[in-house]
Amino acid sequence: MKYANDCPQLQIATKNKTSGLIGDAKALKLPQIPFNSLALSRLLQSNFSTAHSLTHTFMNAILSPNFLKHPNTNHLNKLPILLLSPRYATTPSATQFTYTTINQPLTSIQCGSLLQSLTNTKSLKIGQKLHAHMISCNTLRNNTYLDTKLAAFYANCGRMIEAQLIFDQIVLKNVFLWNSMIRGYACNGHSMKSLVLYREMMSFGQKPDNFTYPFVLKACGDLGVVEIGRRVHCEVVVCGFEADVYVGNCLLAMYSKFGKMDMVKMVFDRMLERDLTSWNTMISGYVRNGEPEEAFSIYEMMGRTGLVADCATLLGILSACTDLFALELGKAIHGYVVRNNLLRINCFLINSLIELYCSCNCMVAARQCFKEVTWKDTVSWNSLVSGYSKNADALESLRLFCQMILDGVDPDQVTLMAVLGACDQITALQFSMSVHSYIIKKGFRSHSMVGTALIDAYSKCGYLACSRQVFDEMTEKTLVSWSAMVSGYGIHGMGREALSIFHNMVVNGIAPDEGAFTTVLTACSHAGLVNEGKDIFHSLKKRYNVQPRLAHFSCLVDLLGRAGNLDEAYDFIKAMEIRPTSDMWASLLSACRLHKNVELAELSAQRVFEMNPKGVGSYICLSNLYASEKRWDDVEKVRALVRQKGLRKPPGFSFTELGKVVHRFLVGDKSHEQKDAIYAKLNELSQRLKEVGHKPDTSSVLYDVEGEVKEKMLWDHSERLAIAFALINTGPGTVIRITKNLRVCADCHTVSKLISKLMCREIVMRDIRRFHHFKDGICSCGDYW
Ligand SMILES: [Zn+2]
Ligand SMILES: [Zn+2]
Repeated sequence: MKYANDCPQLQIATKNKTSGLIGDAKALKLPQIPFNSLALSRLLQSNFSTAHSLTHTFMNAILSPNFLKHPNTNHLNKLPILLLSPRYATTPSATQFTYTTINQPLTSIQCGSLLQSLTNTKSLKIGQKLHAHMISCNTLRNNTYLDTKLAAFYANCGRMIEAQLIFDQIVLKNVFLWNSMIRGYACNGHSMKSLVLYREMMSFGQKPDNFTYPFVLKACGDLGVVEIGRRVHCEVVVCGFEADVYVGNCLLAMYSKFGKMDMVKMVFDRMLERDLTSWNTMISGYVRNGEPEEAFSIYEMMGRTGLVADCATLLGILSACTDLFALELGKAIHGYVVRNNLLRINCFLINSLIELYCSCNCMVAARQCFKEVTWKDTVSWNSLVSGYSKNADALESLRLFCQMILDGVDPDQVTLMAVLGACDQITALQFSMSVHSYIIKKGFRSHSMVGTALIDAYSKCGYLACSRQVFDEMTEKTLVSWSAMVSGYGIHGMGREALSIFHNMVVNGIAPDEGAFTTVLTACSHAGLVNEGKDIFHSLKKRYNVQPRLAHFSCLVDLLGRAGNLDEAYDFIKAMEIRPTSDMWASLLSACRLHKNVELAELSAQRVFEMNPKGVGSYICLSNLYASEKRWDDVEKVRALVRQKGLRKPPGFSFTELGKVVHRFLVGDKSHEQKDAIYAKLNELSQRLKEVGHKPDTSSVLYDVEGEVKEKMLWDHSERLAIAFALINTGPGTVIRITKNLRVCADCHTVSKLISKLMCREIVMRDIRRFHHFKDGICSCGDYW
């Protein structure tokens, strides 16, 4: 039954009586698509006239799909041949073929045409049988014509060892043979061998033709060696194939793989003739090299030439839309695709549409497209899984991932990275661990991007030891994996370890990039390592020749401010060669709140309010500072300002995971099924905290209500609901892990510290900025956050 799978409907070998072989797509005036039996059978079913001409213009020797099962199989001289019934022309159906067996041995011409058709359909198994037949048949042995075709057959099927063996035995090698071999190596991942063979061809005195260069250029592009590529380009010009549109297109593709879009443009401008592929290569080249705007302008130019976009054009333009969040144009293309019924022709289009809608945060439209995909492949699932993850709906992302596995679709590294990204958004530690074991089981462990995503997920789920283990076990550590580890130590306030990893990375010969500097500076800032951070900042330009960017300046402001060097931070902002951002002033403001410098806080707040009048966080920060200084009139002024501007604090929510299920709590949430138990627990906690002398700090409550109501409002904070839920549902000694979407407020911070002592529980809380490890009544952040 093996063949039933290999050949879904039929195998066709074609021979034209008058003009030789017409098994190739060109002769049938088909688009240049990889030709296979399925495509041909579809064509036969859909196109009566082609089927008709097929039957009438040549004898079709069609190998039966049941070839191997045929009783004559062993007797190789009697190849069973399936003949096309003339009736086919009127009633096209695979069942209407009649079977005939040819008992005579094949002639050289018959054998050649069979080989040609098997080459076109890449029917390796049947070809091998035919090869055996050729060996057993005296008349077919030592025949240069057939051996050439045989080598080409193996090369086309990607069996380069067999192809090379036959190739070596052929004395008179023609250009077709050289081309087949060069193409075989180029298309099967042996670019270097392909180029070596091309050189050999030249030294044998065989002139390359316009079928040689496309594959030599492909090999150059895949190898990424610009020098060789340029040399081959020169040879193309010398041999006079520059004007060949097919060769020209391959030149475009090669330079685009090199990322040399200026060269691509030059070649394109010099092309005498351009076809749709030329335009498409330009569009996809610009998209691939991060210049989507250019892709749009090429698309516009193409429209003016009167060429009609095909699926490849649309795919390129959709990618450009995705990069530029160009929703309107994307929707227009979607409409065009639907009107022209293109979704049935090209399954990649729907995936690109899903990706577009996800990037534009239109998850409803993305979901609708996803529903319409009849055959959902890994790419369709990936688009949606990562779409939800990127649009901050991590729960839906994880749910989809489970559904994907249930549906029997195999995730790839892209899926796993997206899922781990979702896990770290909501601190789903158990889920991350399950994904980790899945990664090991499925053999993705050696993939450095997946490993890096795991490091990230574990550190953001508060389990740094696991991050370190994954990091240590990685065979190939890239810049990104080193940076992930630095950042992991950083957000947990372990600055020394972060610095040591950073220095280790440099010692290991990996040059840090801008991002790596940002992570290590952030780590210094979280740990209060002022001098180390300043050293790194000053070494950026001097030692590593990296131009400091906005992010680095921000980090330094944060570092100085957080450590209490407020005046230094202020002077630094004033002396900066770039314009300070509202975020920098906001971080100075926040530092002023920590270190209670009202004057500088007011100045910074003024700047933030000017630059980002809608950012409610800074108003809260200033009001908290006034409250801590008991300047109630000023508190009221800020609150009035907030009311007047109609600003609202974004709703806070917290996550906690229990038995691989993630529970989400909103502020004052009454929707959880255990709500009664949770609120009872909170009441009990509040009583016990009062007994040990806790006085609630209501300064973070922005509303103008009675003190008692304010206290009650604090007990509604989402992290407390999550802590109560975890206390109820987990045994003594279990670490409680919470993730909060906002900064934890001062009172929740104190309460968490007290609960950790009272209930003898370690609480690991991740807020929007960093981790707090509450244990025995103290927090790892040292109360500066
Ligand atoms: Zn709170
Ligand atoms: Zn803390």
